[in-house]
Amino acid sequence: MGEKKRGIGRRAVLIGGGAAVVGGAVLARDELRRAWYRVPGVEKDRVAGRLDHPGAVWTAASPANWRLADRPADFTIDRVVIHVVQGSFPTALKVFKDPGHGAATHYVVRKDGHIAQMIRELDVAFHAGDRAMNERSIGIEHEGFVDRPQDFTDAMYASSARLTAGICARYGIPVDREHIIGHVEVEGTDHTDPGPHWDWDRYIRLVRSAPAPTKNGGNGETARTTAS
Ligand SMILES: [Zn+2]
Repeated sequence: MGEKKRGIGRRAVLIGGGAAVVGGAVLARDELRRAWYRVPGVEKDRVAGRLDHPGAVWTAASPANWRLADRPADFTIDRVVIHVVQGSFPTALKVFKDPGHGAATHYVVRKDGHIAQMIRELDVAFHAGDRAMNERSIGIEHEGFVDRPQDFTDAMYASSARLTAGICARYGIPVDREHIIGHVEVEGTDHTDPGPHWDWDRYIRLVRSAPAPTKNGGNGETARTTAS
């Protein structure tokens, strides 16, 4: 997890980088953050609590664990990265809300199929431990432990597969193992999730057969609840 170089990136180039050389690093970052909103194309409709996946419930990750972006306009989204928490659903939400954690996924799926959305799909979540992969992917955590196959319930597989099917439909991502990968498959990672008990054949089959998602253009719909 995490993204060590949580840097300024290509946005600095877009706005000329002037702010980045004035004053200290903290000031520069604040200036840059404000300046982002002046860059054409960045002014997406950003209403707190909006969702990309109609079946999810919004609960926000700490802004320290993701980066403002304008995907797919600035970065192409062509990967879904499957994770397993190595812990419970409440644990995942707690650490992703912790600004000191340095990592979070867009979604967390519970054993009963409930889905929390914590970061908008247009933003870059720090979940793969690799900057380039974070920029091109959506991250999905699953409650449970890699060495406990009983944690991966029917309800979890079905719900997660519908979520991934919706993501693939929104961004035109092919439903195959090249584009839907495990954290373990991210280049250079030392993470092993989702582990040997995650049934990839079953998962891909479920994603392919998932009913067509409700079309919402990826701009989100109003959350049914706002969890704390
Ligand atoms: Zn992971």
